Amino acid sequence: MSSPKLYIPGPVDISPATYAAMSGPNIGHRGKDFEELYASIQPNLRTIAGSSRNVYLSTSSAWGVMEGAIRNLVQKKVLNLCCGAFSDKWFSVAKSCGKEAEKIQVEWGEQIDPATVKAKLDEGGFDVVTLVHNETSTGVLNPLKEIAEIVKSYPEVLLVVDVVSSFSVVETSFDELGADVMLGGVQKALALPPGLTIFAVSEAALERAATTPDRGYYFDFCEFAKNDEKNNTPSTPAIALLYALKQKVDEIVEEGLQNRYARHAKLNEMVKAWGTKHGFENLAPEGYQSKSLVTFKNNLDIDVSGFVKAVREKHNFLINGGYGKIKGTTFRISNMGNETEASMTELLNALDEVIPDFLG
Ligand SMILES: *Cc1c(COP(=O)(O)O)cnc(C)c1O
Repeated sequence: MSSPKLYIPGPVDISPATYAAMSGPNIGHRGKDFEELYASIQPNLRTIAGSSRNVYLSTSSAWGVMEGAIRNLVQKKVLNLCCGAFSDKWFSVAKSCGKEAEKIQVEWGEQIDPATVKAKLDEGGFDVVTLVHNETSTGVLNPLKEIAEIVKSYPEVLLVVDVVSSFSVVETSFDELGADVMLGGVQKALALPPGLTIFAVSEAALERAATTPDRGYYFDFCEFAKNDEKNNTPSTPAIALLYALKQKVDEIVEEGLQNRYARHAKLNEMVKAWGTKHGFENLAPEGYQSKSLVTFKNNLDIDVSGFVKAVREKHNFLINGGYGKIKGTTFRISNMGNETEASMTELLNALDEVIPDFLG
């Protein structure tokens, strides 16, 4: 069977323009050509990130920087805001790094309530908060602005935000949020091959990192800052992915950020409307629903894995049958990356054709 077109919430399909960009020449990363490539990515990447500071480039998946943020910044205790597979895991990662960690845990499918964050921080002793903006497992979009505002009112507490699946889908302005670390993988909403993570770091976070022992080398934020001053990275980066990133950030700025947000909102509405038409409920509550994907509840009790398989076999489209402990009781459809009204219509028509076989 040929590779299916991906409508899973990452990795997503890669455009021919991105593939073409990746075939650029290999270059020595300590030379002028590389510095020019790195510097050429920054203006548009900073615009998309809403950052007046350069955005660092880590050759790793997002978890590298998520773990790195813990190792660089936690000296006392981290508060992990947990509402799904990725945010829950951040708590266990913090503990596996030997750090003191506490969590606020809500049910999968619920959002983090800013008031509980405030109450917890009032207990004292915390110096870092981690938040997953768009919890890709549950399709919940957390109230980032409200939570950032609260964390900001505790000067010794740094806010680390994962925007892996919301970056360039909805506005996430690093400067306006006053976040301390904002990180995004590239195989989700940026529609690049996996292997690169972009991250912005505040001055306060760099000052903290400089005094944190045992932060290692590969993800040492101070090393990233020092090398960034020379338009460079601490170790040999995935140069092909940097070419891809350059192509993508230029494309996004050309599309226009507001247009891109509007496109994703529209496509997401199409997916939601498909579910409503067939009687599937959204796992995420009204007001906190992702614009990148929809996580549907399997409230009609269909054979989810059979459905996913049939969609693939009959139409060569891949959707996702639920992540982690909600596999089978939910299913997910992504509208991230390069999707258009036409490409989403094709998928939804295919789903329309297959779904009657699975409804009682
Ligand atoms: C995919 C994802 C991650 C993990 O990314 P990796 O690239 O597998 O390290 C983290 N957070 C969120 C919200 C994600 O969707």
